[in-house]
Amino acid sequence: MAAYHCPNYNDCKLVNSLIIVANLEAKENYMTNYCLQDKNYWSNCKRYITKATLNFCPDFVLPDTPLTPEEIIDKFDDESF
Ligand code: SF4
Repeated sequence: MAAYHCPNYNDCKLVNSLIIVANLEAKENYMTNYCLQDKNYWSNCKRYITKATLNFCPDFVLPDTPLTPEEIIDKFDDESF
């Protein structure tokens, strides 16, 4: 494991499964560009921001998802019905 990594690294579904990103190369790119970097990088991950804001992160959210946490919860509510 890198010296720097996101505080959510051990629990994040993107890191620990293929549920969030099924393509292994795409998953590794996200991990290289966000998860295994210092705070300047992982603090800009939308999955990190969403979990910090909403206390959970829906599966459809990717590190570079352009939606705000408010838009994400609206989308999550819409998809829950
Ligand atoms: S940087 Fe984002 S995708 Fe990576 S472990 Fe943290 S919250 Fe998950």
